[in-house]
Amino acid sequence: MSSRFLRDDLASFSPYSVTYSPDLIKLDANENPFELPDEVKEKIRSEFMKLPLRIYPDPTALKLRNSIASFLGIDGLDERHIAVGNGSDEILQYIFIAFLDRDDLVMYPNLSFEMFSVFSQVTGVKDVKLDLNELLEIDLSSITKAIYTYRPKLLLLCRPNNPTGWSMPKEDVIMLLKQSQKFDTLVVIDEAYGEFMEESLAYLVKDYDNLIVLKTFSKAFSLAGLRLGYAISNEEIIKDLMSIKLPYNVNSFSQMVGRIVLEYKDVILSKIRFIVSERERIYGRLVNLNKVKVFPSRANFLFFYCEEKDLLDKLLSYGIKIRRFEPKHHLLKDAYRVTVGKKEENDKFLNAMEEILS
Ligand code: PMP
Repeated sequence: MSSRFLRDDLASFSPYSVTYSPDLIKLDANENPFELPDEVKEKIRSEFMKLPLRIYPDPTALKLRNSIASFLGIDGLDERHIAVGNGSDEILQYIFIAFLDRDDLVMYPNLSFEMFSVFSQVTGVKDVKLDLNELLEIDLSSITKAIYTYRPKLLLLCRPNNPTGWSMPKEDVIMLLKQSQKFDTLVVIDEAYGEFMEESLAYLVKDYDNLIVLKTFSKAFSLAGLRLGYAISNEEIIKDLMSIKLPYNVNSFSQMVGRIVLEYKDVILSKIRFIVSERERIYGRLVNLNKVKVFPSRANFLFFYCEEKDLLDKLLSYGIKIRRFEPKHHLLKDAYRVTVGKKEENDKFLNAMEEILS
């Protein structure tokens, strides 16, 4: 029951649903199964001892933005093209606040990152959802047609897409950017899982002044608990975002840790190859199971349909938690997403699936 003070239009609001369950085999939230290596934690510990907590953090997070720009290594791109946030979620929220009026329209695929819908509802903007086909992909012509028809102020794409793992071909994204420029549509490409497909379109911000690319330290960098994400765009858009943000949105500790993990990027990102090979191994086993329809993925998770009754609870009895989706529409009926874990966790999941479905 909500309070009498809540806005009327939020009465039927559906919040982002997550539960905290660190003691299970957690394959439900697309987290990285590996903690930071001890040597990185040691470095963080020693830098922490020197960190002044008495004073507010640098509101511009200048050093961290510089480190991110060097890490990206894109010609002509520097800290003026980067904004940081308390998770990339926060930056997405700022994009809604800074660029959308109540009557504006936002467009995104009907099976994509849930926060797209949450922010649309919270900010009270109108949304149009793009239908995915039976392969859970969107073809360029239907999305271009929708842009022509609706002329959205904001188009949100997640690449690779959460929860399906599909990645729109680069050429299609470029076509979309060209089309959307004609209508002054701002395009956000959420690359939260981009490191797992080893491709980023961040360099396109130099060619398209209507593009924002979002990235995060939560997945490939194993730092979901820290809350640190960033946006890459042109100088004007970054200035707009920074002008409306909370003054101290990224705390001193996160700013320091972000810089350190970038120094150790090679050792941290070396786990990606393993995660990708495990993803393919899980796909290979799931694809052979009766009752399971699994989709190829370029991320650190796999999306599948399974008609087994109470699958979620049955897996929980093995101590394994995966993500089940509320059947809000036809594409989410009997839909699950499993995150790639450590080898032994993946084995436990696969063996449990085989037992349950035998
Ligand atoms: N984008 C997508 C597609 C995600 O799946 C997530 C995390 N679930 C985020 C953004 C948010 O990342 P962060 O932890 O940086 O807020």
